[in-house]
Amino acid sequence: MLQSSSTTSKDNKSHAKMGGETAAQKKPRSDYPVRAPKPVGQLISNIYKDRISQFYSRGQWENNNLLAMMNEAVVSGEPHVQLSVWDAPKLTRPTFDDAVSHEFKKTSVGSWFGPSWSTHWFKVVIKVPKELADKRLLELHWDANNEGLIWTEDGKPLQGLTGGGERVEWVLPESFRDGKQHTIYIEMACNGMFGNAPGGDSIQPPDPNKSFRLDRAEIVAVNPDARQLFIDIWIIGDAAREFPSDSWEQHKALKTCNAIIEAFELGNKESLKTCRKIAEEYLGPNINSAKVYESGKEPVVFGIGHCHIDSCWLWPFAETKRKVARSWSNQCDLMERYPELNFACSQAQQYKWLKELYPSVFERVKKKVAEGRFHPIGGSWVEHDTNMPSGESLVRQFLYGQRFYESNFGNRCQTFWLPDTFGYSSQLPQLCRLSGMTRFLTQKLSWNNINKFPHTTFNWVALDGSQVVCHMPPSETYTAEAHFGDVKRSMSQHKSLDQDATSLLVFGKGDGGGGPTWQHIEKLRRCRGISDTVGLLPRVHLGNSVDDFFDKLELKADTFVTWYGELYFELHRGTYTTQANNKRNNRKAEFVLREVELLATIASIKDKSYKYPKKDIDDMWEAVLLCQFHDCLPGSSIRMAYDESDEFYAKLFKTAKKILDDTSKVLGVSQATSSSITEGAALSSLSWHRKSLIDINETEAAVACGKGPFLKLRKFKTSEDKPEVSLRKLSGGAFLLENSQLKVEVKGGCVTSLYDKSAEREIIPKGEKANQYVIFDDKPLYWQAWDVEVYHLDTRKTLPCGETKVHEEKKHRVSVVTETKISDKSSIETVISLSAAVEGEQSYVEVASKVVWNETMKFLKVEFPVDVRSTEASYETQFGVVRRPTHYNTSWDMAKFEVCCHKFADLSEHDYGVSVLNDSKYGFATTGSLMRLSLLRSPKAPDANADMGTHHIRWAILPHKGALGPTTVRKAFEFNSPLKLVSVPLSGSVLSGPPIELTSDSSPALVLDTVKRGEDDEDVSRGELPVKKGQSVVVRIYDSLGGRARGTVATSWDVKRVSKTNLLEDELEEVVFEDGKFAVDLKPFEVATYKLQLA
Ligand SMILES: [Zn+2]
Repeated sequence: MLQSSSTTSKDNKSHAKMGGETAAQKKPRSDYPVRAPKPVGQLISNIYKDRISQFYSRGQWENNNLLAMMNEAVVSGEPHVQLSVWDAPKLTRPTFDDAVSHEFKKTSVGSWFGPSWSTHWFKVVIKVPKELADKRLLELHWDANNEGLIWTEDGKPLQGLTGGGERVEWVLPESFRDGKQHTIYIEMACNGMFGNAPGGDSIQPPDPNKSFRLDRAEIVAVNPDARQLFIDIWIIGDAAREFPSDSWEQHKALKTCNAIIEAFELGNKESLKTCRKIAEEYLGPNINSAKVYESGKEPVVFGIGHCHIDSCWLWPFAETKRKVARSWSNQCDLMERYPELNFACSQAQQYKWLKELYPSVFERVKKKVAEGRFHPIGGSWVEHDTNMPSGESLVRQFLYGQRFYESNFGNRCQTFWLPDTFGYSSQLPQLCRLSGMTRFLTQKLSWNNINKFPHTTFNWVALDGSQVVCHMPPSETYTAEAHFGDVKRSMSQHKSLDQDATSLLVFGKGDGGGGPTWQHIEKLRRCRGISDTVGLLPRVHLGNSVDDFFDKLELKADTFVTWYGELYFELHRGTYTTQANNKRNNRKAEFVLREVELLATIASIKDKSYKYPKKDIDDMWEAVLLCQFHDCLPGSSIRMAYDESDEFYAKLFKTAKKILDDTSKVLGVSQATSSSITEGAALSSLSWHRKSLIDINETEAAVACGKGPFLKLRKFKTSEDKPEVSLRKLSGGAFLLENSQLKVEVKGGCVTSLYDKSAEREIIPKGEKANQYVIFDDKPLYWQAWDVEVYHLDTRKTLPCGETKVHEEKKHRVSVVTETKISDKSSIETVISLSAAVEGEQSYVEVASKVVWNETMKFLKVEFPVDVRSTEASYETQFGVVRRPTHYNTSWDMAKFEVCCHKFADLSEHDYGVSVLNDSKYGFATTGSLMRLSLLRSPKAPDANADMGTHHIRWAILPHKGALGPTTVRKAFEFNSPLKLVSVPLSGSVLSGPPIELTSDSSPALVLDTVKRGEDDEDVSRGELPVKKGQSVVVRIYDSLGGRARGTVATSWDVKRVSKTNLLEDELEEVVFEDGKFAVDLKPFEVATYKLQLA
């Protein structure tokens, strides 16, 4: 500009001198020809764009394009690559030491290995030929189309391999260039990165007879210039293809690509350098190192390496242990070469597996953690489901997770990390806060198939008002390939730009893919180069942590939008039902653990010689937490994973029984199947006063009454002329079951009338039938085990009623039984019972079913039409209740056509309602006045036998006065925790009352849910964190109904101090403790933890 203006002024002067006869004229460029020498056409954009990929694609061009220059030399076979193999027997996964102790037999490239899931160990002896010794980059390329792990000769894992071209290179160490023989081992696992599906549809049940061909085992001298150019043109090509055509940046990208292609000369290594020089015009000069990130310009997209490893899914848990070793050793290796690579990985369980099974890799990881490169994240034991685990299970996910991280790495996590879980329940923000975490990352809601979730970054608010900052990466993936498009979408799909433009880009191959690859990192360097050189692409940065990202968000989080309540996932609604047995085990295990911890706590304080079984309890919890993994509990894994989880649970129940036997001895009771009233007692692990019938032998019952853990029995009184409960046959095959509170008419297995005597209210609308079984066609759009689609509702068929017969006619209980035929292969036996009402306790109708289930793509449910009208139904969730619409006003309402509940669902008017309780189910729907409990599905993928067989399921219909209240909460607990008969030989002191209780004047909404010993007590601790002196007891209390709840905890233990703690048992504030009591005052749906330090 400066030069041109001075030229003008000089011209002006000369112009003045010449007197102004002619207009000033700039002298034309001397070499610009007068006549056009040839026609020049416009670059025809689509053709020139398509040409780009021809430059680096396989197929007909590969011998004449850039690919032909990728390698300077390739050698395979003997004497340079000697291969021998040992096939591990059956489907075992032996250790390194075991494997190498066997004899290896010669093998070669082209051989096949199998069957599916088998393991083969290769001894690979490498001798680099002299002529390759000074090549710039030497790699071993190994592709057997399955997964592998490279080990040193002395048994240290080096790096994972994934076949099919996913990750096939291993950089040879410098020491291998000496011309001598060097040995490594490769452990081959006969599965692909997504298991062993028979064809291209990876969710089909695995084919047990696959075999895998060793395609490549060769030493390759790579031409680094060609490799770098490959990435250059790939990314510039993407800019040409994906930038808008009305931008100059797009046109320049296209021109650059074509200039590169034209400069390329096959066989001429110097031309590669020329091509790269041209690429530099678009990418900038710094893309060959991490220096590219040092431009000082403000980035908006923050890349973080990640490897989403499903703890089980299309492979068993046993294989995951190896996937972890393979993937994480890759990352430690890659970090050596790429200083900008930071890697975040969740699931304490996976770190624990690594520590136990691969100590040398764990040490490598630990070192990288200390360097700030490898970031343990998430704070939970696994990436668990959040719909179905109980409140206490969620607490333990954090307790076990955070304690592992703290004890092994010195730090707790700040960010809860669940990118792939199927919906997020409403109390999570509160539980995160109470576990030291203020942030949450997910992205699964981008899979919603009805409504688009409206925010990228927001405050997520729990039932109690607690909030966390939530970010959902706008690239809508947690396994990004770090493409140009991923970076671009990080801005173009960002939905919270009015508040903040930054985002995370979570990149790296998941599952068997082993996390980020060198290609990912190289691509991102170039993306950054583009942003700083030509612009338009959002500026990406590597080298920060997820916490760094959230640190900045948190500073302005008070201006972010809010989302209250659950993050309901509009997909995968079948996961509340699929794999019923596994779900039942989850519920049973959660309840047995409550009991085990309560009784072991009491026993360990009563008798100092009794050792609190911390290791057994840890093992049990870790099994429960592992099985809550987001493909296990939801039912979306293959059969092999459920065979394993069945074993975990079987072991857990066995351990529980042993602990309960031991504690019984200490407490002076013994388990009993029959007893007399004087010698018997009822065990209750629930915190409130219970009054209930309990069978004491085949024919008789007693009334158990009192507060736990051991309730006294007294005689159940009846008179002949006025029975407490009766059964009467009516005309037309109907029966009337009646007690002092309810009249129940049963016909053909259905409840045709349910009359509440004191409320003078009929619950079943006239002409309708409750406990009606219905069956639906269940063929979702794709994800069979996961999804039930909205249109299944259109295929509803009622199951025909069978004949009802008398089943039981006792003084304290009557019942009728009905056979229902589903098909030639499936049937249901249903027992409907009514027990004598106990004064002051709400009576309910109990149903026990035995379902023989052998269907294909059918969904079985049971319906309860009730004469109750409300636009909202209530469903129990962790530590509270969530309300959802009973109508389809909007697409958001309609999307909730199938929802998750825990022990109960409830439909209430202001003064009356009906609850449906269950003992093992999680799927429910309330449409208008119709309540519907989901029982069984029959998807055929990924487990072809999901839910085939016999199931025992219990539920109950509980009418109640008033709106949803403590009656439902307590009866649902009681239904899942029936009284257990024990015998007390000498009417021992155990019956003197509970050592800890909520006093009777406390709010009935309060639930004292958990009683356990302090994790680090000197007589409990396993030494992972500093031991604390003395004995303590930790209790967890919550408000179950959503109101201000006050109460008093009283204890007979010798307590010297009480403090309120978080879930990790850090003492937060001291609580006034006097006369064996302390007050609790909870906000709506608050979860409070107290630690009682004993004297
Ligand atoms: Zn997953």
